[in-house]
Order: sequence, then C-alpha cells, then structure tokens
Amino acid sequence: MKAAIISDIHSNLEALQAVIKDIKKRRIKRILCLGDLVGYGANPDECIELCMRETKIIVAGNHDWAAIGKTDISVFNPVAAEAIRWTQKNISKKNFNRLNKLELIETVDSILLVHASPQKPEQWDYLFTLDEFKRQFEFFKTQVCFVGHSHIPSVVFQEANGYTDFLRDNPFPLIDNRKYIINIGSVGQPRDLDPRASYAIYDGNNKSIDIIRLDYNIPLAQQKIIDAGLPEVLADRLLAGR
Ligand code: ZN
Repeated sequence: MKAAIISDIHSNLEALQAVIKDIKKRRIKRILCLGDLVGYGANPDECIELCMRETKIIVAGNHDWAAIGKTDISVFNPVAAEAIRWTQKNISKKNFNRLNKLELIETVDSILLVHASPQKPEQWDYLFTLDEFKRQFEFFKTQVCFVGHSHIPSVVFQEANGYTDFLRDNPFPLIDNRKYIINIGSVGQPRDLDPRASYAIYDGNNKSIDIIRLDYNIPLAQQKIIDAGLPEVLADRLLAGR
C-alpha cells in the first residue's frame, strides 16, 4: 500500500487544498487522516467536507471531539476554547454528525492510526520526549504507528532489544526488526517553527516514509481568521509556525 497521511488540519482550507493537490500530483490514491479537522481556523465545514471526500479513513482528534461536546474544553487554553465555541456555532448539523461517527483508533494494512497515543487515545496525551514515546511501544503490535496532536514532525524507532531513539533522517527506510512511531506534523498549524504544511507519504511496497513540507497561501488563511472574528493570535501563529 502507498498512502499519504495527513493530520491536524484545523479548519485551514488553504493548507488542506495545497496538500491534497500535491498528493494528487504524485498520483497517490489513498489518503488517511489522523484527525483534528477543526478548531483554530475559519473553514470547518469546508475542511470536514473535503476530508470526507478525499480520504479513506479518518480518526477523531481532541478538537473534533471538543467541537461536538465529547471532550471538556475547560482543559483547553482560552484561545483554543474560544475557537472551539466559534466552531460549534459555525458547523452544520450534518458535519457535526460526521465528526460524531469517527473512531479513535484504526488499523489499515498493518499500520496503526491514532491522533494522540496508542496507549490511551481518549486521554489525548502529548508525546514530546523520548521517554514519552518509549512508553507507547508496548501498546501496539503493528510495525508502524502514525500519530499527530503535537503538530511537531518527529520519528522514534525501537529495536527488538528495546533500544529506542529519535531518527533525524528524512526520507527514511523502514527496517524490518524496528518498530516506529511517526508524528507526521500538522497540515494547518505547524508548530516546529516551519510554517509550511506537513504530511507524510508511506510506501509499504518500498518500505519507506517521507515527510513532506509544502508552501501554501498563508496570508489568505490568516485574513479569513481575522474576518471571522477569531482570536488574531491564531492568524499570527500560522506565519510563525508555532
Ligand atoms: Zn491538533
């Protein structure tokens, strides 16, 4: 199987359109999505609809659950909570129901897809440090687990003897006796100081992964956030990439 994996779109239609165009240009037929379709940006309905049309599988993210009242937003920072309340007022009933149907975890062709962590997907734990990643390996049996959530692309591998480390190469081969947790970064709100949209290409035949970065129309996405009356800081951070 060859597939593109996307995550954390966050209602950023400009970034999503650019990513899907790039995937089609590469003639990749299958797109899998790790959730957070909404929250932060100005086009929730359009992003839900485009994702539903173009992707094979979508798992739920914490912002998707928050938008439909399944996750308590009192734990969100004030700006994220405000964006969720705006989203709740601005998505259609049909799209509300679509978000409500998403599962937390899916397996396809021996890869695991989950928004936050394989251990407890519903707790939305963040994986930043090597120890945080390391703890997760016993909770999945597939060779590869794709995650999103932190908006920071990162790859951690574990060897059969338990040795675990970050992998800095990109693209990189999948080595047989290693397991991998791969954070593919964010389409719509990157936070690694690189404002370009991020997604991954998984090539199961050639056993390789490539994390792609892509320019998109940031000024337009920013203008829409301001015009929608969403917090201006959400526009600023798109350009800052954090
Ligand atoms: Zn997110």
